Formats: sequence, C-alpha cells, structure tokens
Amino acid sequence: MNKLGFGFLRLPQTRNRDIDLPLLERMVDRFLSSGGTYFDTAYTYLDGMSETALKQAVVERHPRASFQIADKLPGWMVRRHEDCERYFLEQCDRCGVDFFDVYLLHWLNRANYAIAERFNEFGFLERLKADGRIGKIGFSYHGDAATLEQVRDNMRDMAPLSPEESILLEKARDIISRNTAIPCTECRYCVKQCPKEIAIPDYFRIYNAYSRFPAEGWKMEPVYASLARNNGKASDCIRCRACERNCPQGIPITQWLKKVAEALEQANSTGTPLK
Ligand code: SF4
Ligand code: SF4
Repeated sequence: MNKLGFGFLRLPQTRNRDIDLPLLERMVDRFLSSGGTYFDTAYTYLDGMSETALKQAVVERHPRASFQIADKLPGWMVRRHEDCERYFLEQCDRCGVDFFDVYLLHWLNRANYAIAERFNEFGFLERLKADGRIGKIGFSYHGDAATLEQVRDNMRDMAPLSPEESILLEKARDIISRNTAIPCTECRYCVKQCPKEIAIPDYFRIYNAYSRFPAEGWKMEPVYASLARNNGKASDCIRCRACERNCPQGIPITQWLKKVAEALEQANSTGTPLK
C-alpha cells in the first residue's frame, strides 16, 4: 500500500461552508491515479459531511476494490452498547458501503477509554471483524503526554534515528513551534458546544497568522471582523469551558480567546506585536 493516505478531516469548502465537491473529486482522482488508495474519515469530521463527501467523491465514482476506507466509531458518544451498532450502520449508510477496511475507536483518552470499557466497545469491534464487516481494528489516541517508559516501550524494536535525522526532526519541530501560537488542528469539536457560537478555530487560525506576521496585522482585522459579524465574538466568551472539555488537543481555549479579543477587537492597525 502507498504510505500516503488522504485525510477527510479538512476538505475544500465553499464560502457558505458546503463541501466544494467538484474540486474534491479532482483531488481524489489525482490521488488515486498517482497510486494512493487509503482514505480516512470519522463520524464527527466536518459535522458528518466528511463521510457523505467520501461517498460522493470516492465510493460512487470508483470501484470499491480500488481503495480502502478507514472510519472511526465515536465511542465517547455511546450511552449504551446498542448505540455502537446504530453508529456503525449510520456510518455505512453515510459512506455508501457495507464494509470498512479499517475501523478505529476514535479519540481515546483516559475518560473515553473508561466509556469504551464500560460499553464493551472493544468487544463490538471484535464482533464486527469476526462478522467480516470490518478488516482491521485500531484506535486513535489524544491523551496525556508521552512518558519516558512509554517511549522506551514503543521504540523497543525500532532502529534509532541517525544523528542527521535527529537534527532535521528537531529543526522541523522548532520551526513549527515557533510559528504556531495556538496548536489548534481545526477539528471543530469545540464549536458545537459553545452557547455563544464563537468561531473558535477560525479565530485561532487568524490569530496564528497574525502572530507570524504582526506587522501585517491590519490585514487580519477585517477578516476577523467579517467572521465576527455572523458568529459570536471572542470577547463574548462566558468561560463556561464546555469547549475545553471537548478539545482533543487540551488547548486552554478561554485563555487564548482573551488574547484573540485583545489583539483583534481593539484598533491595532499599526501592527503592535502580540502578547
Ligand atoms: S468557554 Fe467560551 S468559547 Fe468555550 S464554550 Fe463557553 S462561551 Fe464558548
Ligand atoms: S480548539 Fe481544540 S477542539 Fe477546537 S478546533 Fe481547535 S483543536 Fe479542535
């Protein structure tokens, strides 16, 4: 299998936030014709539009045997074991398939692992595999920091990086960290929880751009103002923290929103460096 997969977490969208299907189809076709075969989606990606887009752009336009799909059970949304089957069938329907090549338990962390055990979600995945309705089983993890013991355990059978590779990796890490104030992945899990309908990831994207090029801040302010006309402003945050409980990256969203408001809601066209 080609090592590069095609993620359906972020897709091209039109101004009114519909998926830009013609463009997505071109991207998918190029990916497949270049030897790619693996598509990755999840129940919650793009509020469910991701799975539907995969059906339209991939499943309905290419032979099923020519690609693989990885999908994910939203295990943290399960309230009783029967919900697992309900979600699985809904996902099959959205994607237009009756088989997933890979099926993962989505977003495991300490709390979600407890839910998975309580409702026997691992058992559910094993049953799907035994029934031939999925190929491989896995999970995705967004939990606590990686301990030294875990790293040792994970790396036991792997060759170490060469000194050159280590240097390159550290350089890449430094460049990324230096240029990204807020490590938001734009998964948008926080948005649905917000009673003030604050466009959290959109504001974080603008703030990150602003912090990279503070002298050009005047360019970001109109973008922010335009978004804030149709969404809650950063300063509308009432600090209920519902968003933070749903952020897989553990971002202190309320603290950053305060900075966003300070930077982008005050007249700042002189490019004052951000705090
Ligand atoms: S803490 Fe602020 S941003 Fe988060 S959900 Fe509450 S109002 Fe929305
Ligand atoms: S703030 Fe967290 S939950 Fe919200 S989009 Fe960014 S990474 Fe996702």
